[in-house]
Amino acid sequence: MKRDVAKMYSLPLQIHYCKKCTISNQRPRITFDAEGVCSACNYAEYKRTKVDWTGRERELVELCDRHRRNDGGYDVVVPVSGGKDGGFVAHQLKYKYGMNPLTVTWAPLLPTDIGRANLHNFIQSGFDSILGTPNGKATRTLTRLAFLYLGDPFQPFIYGQTNFPLKMAVQHGIKLIMYGENGEVEYGGDMKNAFKPTREIQDHDKHYFSGLPPEFWLQHGVGAQDIAPFLPPPYEQVVKNQTEIHFLGYYKFWDPQENFYYCSENTGFVPNTERSEGTYSKYASLDDRVDGFHYYLAFIKFGIGRTTSDTAHEIRDSKITREEGMALVKRYDGEFPKKYFHEFLAYCGIDEKTYHDTIDSWRADHIWARKNDEWSLRHAIWNE
Ligand SMILES: [Zn+2]
Repeated sequence: MKRDVAKMYSLPLQIHYCKKCTISNQRPRITFDAEGVCSACNYAEYKRTKVDWTGRERELVELCDRHRRNDGGYDVVVPVSGGKDGGFVAHQLKYKYGMNPLTVTWAPLLPTDIGRANLHNFIQSGFDSILGTPNGKATRTLTRLAFLYLGDPFQPFIYGQTNFPLKMAVQHGIKLIMYGENGEVEYGGDMKNAFKPTREIQDHDKHYFSGLPPEFWLQHGVGAQDIAPFLPPPYEQVVKNQTEIHFLGYYKFWDPQENFYYCSENTGFVPNTERSEGTYSKYASLDDRVDGFHYYLAFIKFGIGRTTSDTAHEIRDSKITREEGMALVKRYDGEFPKKYFHEFLAYCGIDEKTYHDTIDSWRADHIWARKNDEWSLRHAIWNE
């Protein structure tokens, strides 16, 4: 089966790369200015030169003052995985701004040892935590379906990761949810929320669920009780609770590498001993053995792998140059996630042929060429 990937994601058929970073115009929803610079680079420039960070911190203090409780009750929900970003948000809110966070974690599909250890260390560093763990059998079925039909095995995790904090906020009567970065604006995407601290609940389906909410899978024989843990709370309850979703990245300069140093010092965070497959980094997104397949599929669909995303962000943060970024992309982007491959197949209950046929069904003609039985990118950044 062949899919019309370009149409599904509204991809431009002429590929070009940002003049400043390594991202291409194939990232869904990204935009470019007349000089060929991407929206994420322009946003990074704006953050560095135009934002009054002292004023923004004042806004944060006002927000905290408005929500802070002194009766022992929780006053903010912080979604965490045990990684450096959620750890930074929770630790700052509690120990610098005097809040009382309830940290919530949606369980990884196939947790890694290092991810588990980091979550444990984080909780030990002084936080209350709730772990949401859905029915494993139903989750495996959803993962298989999401891989086969959506080309992203990670989708069930994303449902839970997005909806569980909202559910916990409503259940515990906590009005404020604080995320770290707004991925859409930091990595390039819909910029409508770039200049405000909040996110609207209505955007959830569009940005995070590829337009397919959990209910979609009911058509594929999944039961209502199987998808229940993945659903958001009823919208009326979210409104009644006066729930507000904010991003700390609006209030404080967001720098993933600095978060890593901060959490190494404050929340017991330890990086991996080896780099993650498909990239050169050792400290981001370490918790799930399915991660690599999510990034690999993005590489297949858009020609944008994990190294492209990582280098683009580091170029914008002035950690590396564009030339260094391009060399890293050439070396690591699109590396096959072989480490957990057989485990992944067993988890999803599919064979190797089905896996490869599915992968190939997501290769768009304007991105991929096949020569001598091998796939290659038509417009790799190093051939510019
Ligand atoms: Zn750029």
